[in-house]
Amino acid sequence: MSIDRLLPGSALTNYPPAERWDDWREYDPREWPRRVERRYLLVPTTCFNCEAACGLLAYVDKETLRVRRFEGNPLHPASRGRNCAKGPATINQVHDPERILYPLKRAGRRGSGSWQRVSWEQVLSEIGGRIRQAFLEGRRNEVMYHVGRPGHERTMDRILKAWGIDGHNSHTNVCSASARLGYALWSGYDRPSPDHARARFILLLSSHLEAGHYFNPHAQRIIEGKLAGAKLAVMDPRLSNTASVADFWLPTYPGSEAAVLLAMANVILAEGLADLEYVEKWTNWREYMAERHHGVEPSFAAFLAALREHYQEFTPAFAEAESGVPRETLVQVARLIGGARGAFASHVWRGTASGNLGGWQVARALQFLTVLTASVATPGGTWPHAWNKYKPVFWEEPSGQRQWNDLLFPKEWPLSHYEMSFLLPHFLKEGRGKLDVYFTRVYNPVWTNPDGLTWMEVLRDEALVGLHAALTPTWNETSIFADYVLPMGLGSERHDIQSQETQAGRWISFRQPVLRAARERMGESLRYTYESNPGQVWEEDEFWIELSWRIDPDGGLGIRRWFESPYRAGEKLTVTEYYRWIFENAVPGLPAAAAKLGLEPLEYMRRHGAFLIEGEVGPLHEKPVSVPAGAQVDALTGRVSAGGKTLGLELDGHVVAGFPTPSRRLELFSKTLAEWGWPEQALPGYVRSHVDRRNLDRARGEMLLLPTFRLPTLIHTRSGNAKYLNEISHRNPLWIHTSDAQRLGLTTGDLARVTTEIGYFVNHVWVTESIAPGVVACSHHMGRWRLHDGEGSRWSTARVVLEAQTESRYRLRLVEQVGPFSSADPDSSRIWWSDGGVHQNLTFAVHPDPVSGMHCWHQKVVVAGAQEEDRYGDVCVDTARSMAVYREWLALARPGPGPGRLRRPLWLDRPLRPADEMFVLD
Ligand code: SF4
Repeated sequence: MSIDRLLPGSALTNYPPAERWDDWREYDPREWPRRVERRYLLVPTTCFNCEAACGLLAYVDKETLRVRRFEGNPLHPASRGRNCAKGPATINQVHDPERILYPLKRAGRRGSGSWQRVSWEQVLSEIGGRIRQAFLEGRRNEVMYHVGRPGHERTMDRILKAWGIDGHNSHTNVCSASARLGYALWSGYDRPSPDHARARFILLLSSHLEAGHYFNPHAQRIIEGKLAGAKLAVMDPRLSNTASVADFWLPTYPGSEAAVLLAMANVILAEGLADLEYVEKWTNWREYMAERHHGVEPSFAAFLAALREHYQEFTPAFAEAESGVPRETLVQVARLIGGARGAFASHVWRGTASGNLGGWQVARALQFLTVLTASVATPGGTWPHAWNKYKPVFWEEPSGQRQWNDLLFPKEWPLSHYEMSFLLPHFLKEGRGKLDVYFTRVYNPVWTNPDGLTWMEVLRDEALVGLHAALTPTWNETSIFADYVLPMGLGSERHDIQSQETQAGRWISFRQPVLRAARERMGESLRYTYESNPGQVWEEDEFWIELSWRIDPDGGLGIRRWFESPYRAGEKLTVTEYYRWIFENAVPGLPAAAAKLGLEPLEYMRRHGAFLIEGEVGPLHEKPVSVPAGAQVDALTGRVSAGGKTLGLELDGHVVAGFPTPSRRLELFSKTLAEWGWPEQALPGYVRSHVDRRNLDRARGEMLLLPTFRLPTLIHTRSGNAKYLNEISHRNPLWIHTSDAQRLGLTTGDLARVTTEIGYFVNHVWVTESIAPGVVACSHHMGRWRLHDGEGSRWSTARVVLEAQTESRYRLRLVEQVGPFSSADPDSSRIWWSDGGVHQNLTFAVHPDPVSGMHCWHQKVVVAGAQEEDRYGDVCVDTARSMAVYREWLALARPGPGPGRLRRPLWLDRPLRPADEMFVLD
């Protein structure tokens, strides 16, 4: 209990008031019943445990300079002082007795478990020298940075562009690429930003409330919306906690969601619930008529008639047959969505979009409802994400690289949204290229991606990957196959700027090393963050600056200049200067807000941790644009351009900004899809999934495995060393419906073998009514393993042996379950759980969607009782078979180039965008 909260005259408050953050007093709960006072300096930072970027407040003991705990930062505009379980569990990660504290270099062959401690000096000179050599020899595309947990808003882009490489890879194609493409094709913005708090109807296509994107800030606002009277509907074949609090649970058969959404659109259109004025004004219906109904009078009435005809097959009865959702419920929900006109908020993330072939069409179909109800960028509606997000700018920025890396954007997927990241090992095995220096950053593809054993094979092969450096705060199943393991700071040990589209409004949050900030507030002067971090843990900003100077020590390569101070010409940039410049020059309103308190902008952010730039941005597509005389107006779309540049959209005699699409309107009809090989998909549509019921072989007993659902208490593989979280969640049994369990003779706790296209895993079953018949489900995050002691957190990992049974066939078997161990933390001897779950992703072949490039996660499986030789946790995989499945999916792609010999449409953005001329194939 805080002493200050009990002082005479003090109101009982939820949070320490900011003016007392320099000296906050509390009794030490561990000393109870003695009243021992502790004094704290409270330092804000930003949570690193998921993408939401909630605010945290570190309680730094002023006497010991040790972080005692993390709570929420009440000044953070999105999280508002509240966190999920994973935020405060940062303290476990900071004090984990097994964390990596020093840079390590492998001492034996890759993956042998043998390491030696090395100095940062050695790391920098060896890696920097190798990169320099590659650059000098013109092998720029052999250097790649592959990020798991992003962050570093635009910082990495700046660094890689300064290096002149097309070397940014991400995890997006195993995460959200499919949904992003669906949204981008509509409006040019690849994510939705629903204004849940003011919505009248909320539709979630996943367990978004408990474990979705921007989970805690969104959850707060979904509940606010609900308390204010909004109705909530959830489409999910699983009775998740989210579905259990919804007004409508729509247990759609996985992959059928677009059929349901299009049937809802049909109801809205048929019953006069659509805002036709809005549709006429903002969609590119004229372009659709010109392309598809040439010769027909191009009136809006004719368009509506054509639209109704196009969607006539999507009746409620059809959708019921596809999805299993009763048609009456579907019609009722459609009417409520139509009735919420202007205030319909929705989100699709992962779940169906990432599970199914054609998942991007689910996002297209969902946004169709948003457009029909005129809920784009309205209070209570769904906004383009970029309007509610801040992106930093810099004093100087390198131009786009003059490189195109076919390992990232190969010709087969010209519309892929983000890099074809999970196919990297398949491309390398096929001889499409090789890597000389490969960085993984908080990225664990061996565990997280499908077909992890193919990743392992490639990472072990020095001819394919010359040098692998893993930048990570924790051990993982990929870092054990690195040459260098480089310990990087957690969320409370590093700098970063974060901003996410969690609500109507724009904010920034400062991630900062809290011990450094505390010591500086107490009067010390530190040059580097590692001076305050535990052991020799660095932060990446400083690593990249130092490395860039090693790559180009004399500036001859033109790289070093980007890493020089904006305040001291020719001198090495410091991390303090980097953020100081951004806060002083590039965050609207921050300097003035800081000045009011007599603070410099950097000091304001160090003390407050977050800043609200603006509360509501307004409908930016309606913003007037001034155009030069002589600007051209496209007769069909109204797009206004001058000098080859699109400037806006002519609407009712005025020029407004519109959307960043080719037509400048919301593209109901995608000419891009039509021109790039997918004319049949140019309108929002329904793609029958690879796991559609008709694609399952009943005679073989095939079922659908849903492997993607997240738990609110874990974070992919980064929470392995958070003891609080692993105590809460540590098993992932297979959910199976009662009727299926009876048919297979299984009861709860029985061992089952789940056979996929390339292997099998063995897990316990949980018999439940909370999953649709014919579908089984297994949660993400579990089944962590280590090959050797010292290479994985024992709070969560089981020790395994990996046996090569043939050249391509492996079996992973548990040899030591999770259990108590002795360490500096007495809690490690109190571990009472022994189960760490089963690793299912290893048994999944890659399924690249031919349009979005997204891995389609859902699996066809055969479930049966375990065989005699099976043991709990067994995983068996044949990587030759996985390459064969890769080729089957590769054959579905429709390669570029597209019009004008473009590798991909110029208007469709991509990460680390190269110079425009690189889009054109030689
Ligand atoms: S929602 Fe994400 S960012 Fe927020 S506290 Fe939880 S883990 Fe941290």
